[in-house]
Amino acid sequence: MHVNLLDFDRDGLIGHCASLGEKGFRATQLFRWIHQRGVADFSHMTDLAQSLRQKLANSARVEGLKPLSQHQSADGTIKWLFDVGDGNAIETVFIPEDDRGTLCISSQAGCAVGCRFCSTGHQGFSRQLSSGEIIAQLWHAEHYLRTRLGQSERVISNVVMMGMGEPLQNYHALVPALRAMLDDHGYGLSRRRLTVSTSGVVPMIERLAQDCPVALAVSLHAPTDELRDQLVPINKKYPLAELLQACQGYLAHAPRDFITFEYCMLDGVNDRDEDARALVELMRHGAGQGIHAKFNLIPFNPFPASGLRRSSAAQVQRFAQHLQDRGFVTTVRKTRGDDIDAACGQLAGDVKDRTDVASRMNRHPIPIAIEKSEARPHEH
Ligand code: SAH
Ligand code: SF4
Repeated sequence: MHVNLLDFDRDGLIGHCASLGEKGFRATQLFRWIHQRGVADFSHMTDLAQSLRQKLANSARVEGLKPLSQHQSADGTIKWLFDVGDGNAIETVFIPEDDRGTLCISSQAGCAVGCRFCSTGHQGFSRQLSSGEIIAQLWHAEHYLRTRLGQSERVISNVVMMGMGEPLQNYHALVPALRAMLDDHGYGLSRRRLTVSTSGVVPMIERLAQDCPVALAVSLHAPTDELRDQLVPINKKYPLAELLQACQGYLAHAPRDFITFEYCMLDGVNDRDEDARALVELMRHGAGQGIHAKFNLIPFNPFPASGLRRSSAAQVQRFAQHLQDRGFVTTVRKTRGDDIDAACGQLAGDVKDRTDVASRMNRHPIPIAIEKSEARPHEH
């Protein structure tokens, strides 16, 4: 079986080229052809020696993901549904803004964490994505957009690992993909503009700090262990005290001097005034003491099986104001692309019946909250 070169970061590619008897700078040239120019066909890589192109053709391939569909919202948000085999699909969302282009990437088909308010979590875990399948989402979107806009410079300036899946439960595949995103010979993203979002896999937060520190967003969603145990089941394994300690440790390595805490606003569950007070208490005098924290409130995107409701706009505002008044920078995630179905926690999972998915996507546009402001705090 020919290896897929999308699975490698540049060091990996250097290793592969060495096994073919080629020097490191050849691997860098090859890496640039693939990632910077979007070329998959070795015969088009004109500055590589014919002999190398032949060796590559005999041993390797550059294979992206197969798009099942692509939908564009009136506001420019684009959502791709990619086939990952065995009836599974993952989603990738591009969110254009005036001063940046953000891509929201999936890390797993399904998710094993099983958060109460997340439809991916309700679907369960199907399988890990490979490094190649993670980076292929950026590869596809970036080169599609460049071609469409007729421009040769970069379109995607920010990446958030906030699609389907828990990135830190697919750590070994995640890290090479992050490295390819950061590499100046790849996508050249700044560490501050690359965000990993996690439900709180404590040991892997610690490893990420060592291996590949990028901006960190932590899905908090509750101010107490009692409530978080119910909403984010991984809290039973890594409770708030451990999670917040890991966040504190991460800051010593992070490219930003703060952690973004995401908080999904659920009517009557975690959005009450007493929850806001408990949150401030946690961050001021509890386990979060001393952490430079920013909050990103996400109005819940409902789905039928959740049995939960979205907080009222007034309550979201009230909650935000409470935090803001006590010195915490707080943003509310804006709704974008509400004419296509691309919501946080609503992304397509099990696609056993593809025809049905295709028709569902056309029939039922679900209002969505798209990652607009979660990347914004990182810009200050
Ligand atoms: N697994 C990672 C990253 C993917 S989820 C994590 O949980 O952080 C990205 C964000 O969307 C998380 O903050 C998650 O809590 C939130 N989310 C999940 N389901 C949602 C829903 N139905 N409505 C709004 N936000 C949701
Ligand atoms: Fe998994 Fe994140 Fe959804 Fe929780 S919110 S089930 S961790 S994808």
